[in-house]
Amino acid sequence: MAWEVSVDRARCLGSGICTALAAGHFAMADEHSRPRAGRIAPDEAVLDAADSCPAGAITVTDAGEVIGPRD
Ligand code: SF4
Repeated sequence: MAWEVSVDRARCLGSGICTALAAGHFAMADEHSRPRAGRIAPDEAVLDAADSCPAGAITVTDAGEVIGPRD
């Protein structure tokens, strides 16, 4: 099982919250976040980052189903 992680650079505000919460999965580049890898082993920290993103720029999917951010 693998999750897919994406960041919408057009929405990203460059707050750095995701890199603080899940440094292993996000990195800042040109004042925007990007996933370190598009496909990852499931990791709750990535869902926490998606939940905490003030721009709603992070999307996490599992087999095509959106699982983050959580409601
Ligand atoms: S938390 Fe959201 S707005 Fe902030 S750097 Fe990450 S993706 Fe961008």
